[in-house]
Amino acid sequence: MEQADNRPVKVLVVEDEKGAAENLRWGLAEAGIVADLVFTGTDAIERAQGNAYDAVLLDVMLPDGPDGFAVCRRLRELRVTSRIIMLSALSGIPDRVSGLDSGADDYLTKPFAFAELLARIRALSRRDGGARDTTLSDLVIDELARVATIAGTEMPLTRKEFDLLALLAQHAGRVVTGEQLVDRAWSYESTPHSGLVDVYMSRLRTKLARAGSRVRVVSVRGIGYRLEVARV
Ligand code: CA
Repeated sequence: MEQADNRPVKVLVVEDEKGAAENLRWGLAEAGIVADLVFTGTDAIERAQGNAYDAVLLDVMLPDGPDGFAVCRRLRELRVTSRIIMLSALSGIPDRVSGLDSGADDYLTKPFAFAELLARIRALSRRDGGARDTTLSDLVIDELARVATIAGTEMPLTRKEFDLLALLAQHAGRVVTGEQLVDRAWSYESTPHSGLVDVYMSRLRTKLARAGSRVRVVSVRGIGYRLEVARV
């Protein structure tokens, strides 16, 4: 399953039963969806903040730490805008209502048919018109409108700064090489001076800090740069 821009759909699976989690990951991989696994609510909050997941598949009953409802509320407080699908053996109306009230986009009762889960993920992707914003903590990048916002406030960015930030955000948590950054922002021009990327990264750093963002541009010596979220 791919986005409008050909990126694979990336999801976070939060499920304490490791066998069930592995089965989900395997099934998702078959459908072309990249899935990361975590087994506790605490890890879920940390991972979902630090990565731009398209969707979080969130088990409600998590024995250690916060349960699914609490995780969902916390992610919304932290302005994580990934789609959240709650997975639960609790099928009662009050549980569904709690799930949706805590900020979930959808609620699926266990046991569910895998095809139904895929259909729900597809439906949520379509709801965004196929072109998902890239979200990392308080940073949201709308590639169609070419606007980056921090907690809802637009960042003043030049065209190249926007391109570079968007590329870093798409690979949040992973290193983007200097070469990839140059390819993105200077593709139709002469290759820039090697120090120019550093200059742009330092400008982005300043602008993120000025906007009060928790997102940081981290330099990985000799390789490139990575976007990270500072811990609360
Ligand atoms: Ca469980």
